[in-house]
Amino acid sequence: MDLLIVGSGFFGLTIAERAAAAGRSVTIIDRRHHLGGNAYSENEPVTGIEVHRYGAHLFHTSNRAVWEYVNRFTSFTNYVHRVYTNHKGVVFPLPINLGTINQFFRAAYSPDEARELVHGLAGEFDSRSAQNLEERAIGLIGRPLYEAFIRDYTAKQWQTDPKDLPPEIISRLPVRYTYDNRYFNDTWEGLPSDGYTAWLERMADHPRIDVRLSTDYFDLSQPLNKRSTVGQVPVVYTGAVDRYFDFSEGELSWRTLDFEEEVLDVGDYQGTSVMNYADADTPFTRIHEFRHFHPERADRYPDDKTVIMREYSRFASRADEPYYPVNTPLDRQRLIAYRDLARGEAGVYFGGRLGTYQYLDMHMAIGSALSMWSNQLA
Ligand code: FAD
Ligand code: UDP
Repeated sequence: MDLLIVGSGFFGLTIAERAAAAGRSVTIIDRRHHLGGNAYSENEPVTGIEVHRYGAHLFHTSNRAVWEYVNRFTSFTNYVHRVYTNHKGVVFPLPINLGTINQFFRAAYSPDEARELVHGLAGEFDSRSAQNLEERAIGLIGRPLYEAFIRDYTAKQWQTDPKDLPPEIISRLPVRYTYDNRYFNDTWEGLPSDGYTAWLERMADHPRIDVRLSTDYFDLSQPLNKRSTVGQVPVVYTGAVDRYFDFSEGELSWRTLDFEEEVLDVGDYQGTSVMNYADADTPFTRIHEFRHFHPERADRYPDDKTVIMREYSRFASRADEPYYPVNTPLDRQRLIAYRDLARGEAGVYFGGRLGTYQYLDMHMAIGSALSMWSNQLA
């Protein structure tokens, strides 16, 4: 074995694939019973509808190198992601665009008129120098739109006062003064034609890649554990960075999700793939309806049944899957200490969403793994 990789998500698989292609023998371990990390999907058994096990995953990127790389393993459909939100029982388009603004104010503003209106409403804060999510959001769209569509959804999703969240979280969403309601701005977008798992498995399909599932790096009863490998073989570690150091600098806060899946006896439940629920009195943040991710599979999916999944968000305890780094000021302080420790850990390379405590999309995880491979490991 030339390299041990802990975690078979996109970060670990990209390193493994590159290393195997360069003639190296790689072992990947993952504590889950399947490979692929959070992008893993499987077909719901009654309906055959592909369900993303850890929440809906939409692939999008403007990075040409990443786009060319991923196309070696899968083709993509022409799916374009659009999200709607339910506020006080009325459905509005997202991200906030001219359609949302006109529907909210019951008006027919032109782009310039809407800009002027929002500019007047947003005067409280300068979004460029915003110190937290609330200031950035109000500076971008003004208080009324913030309170309707952002404040309570964000509080539900992060269980943290938006004043204690970093402004970057909201910068993920564009604000548009046109009726364009594409959720993402990226050049390329789509879903893997044969599903995520086929794509993930193809990345690991190489005689020099050995995948061992249901294997936890911190379980000393299995041979490839932290004690037996560090210093013996280079390790790429994509689990949680605070767990690696036994939480010595304090716990980093993570958010986890609970998913409530249901098969319903209707052909179409909500008419779209993702419906957000903006208000505090609805306990879940959104409902996914998976058939709508693949309209091209209409002849394979039943027309009298559908699969929906309600998503609930809460703080993760140690026993939960850590999904989203919360990134409060205290977390950022602790992260600096963990980064120092990580730099001192010879022969161990920390990567991916959990290993770097960063909100990485798939294309970012793949892009950073490609960089780690060529700059540090190759
Ligand atoms: P992961 O996929 O989390 O993989 C890490 C792996 O390490 C896991 O399989 C875990 O089991 C394993 N592991 C951890 N600890 C140990 C241990 N001690 N021993 C052995 N194995 C261990 N990205 C997008 O581009 N678009 C989206 O729409 C999107 N939606 C998302 C929705 C949700 C709910 C979540 C959580 C993420 C979403 N992402 C999305 C991000 C995407 O999941 C990540 O970018 C991608 O999975 C990152 O891959 P990774 O390898 O860094 O981490
Ligand atoms: N957001 C919001 N209202 C919405 C959708 C998003 O306030 O209806 C905010 C929220 O703070 C969220 C952030 O925008 O965390 C980024 O949204 P995105 O949909 O990218 O989150 P993800 O899909 O990664 O959970």
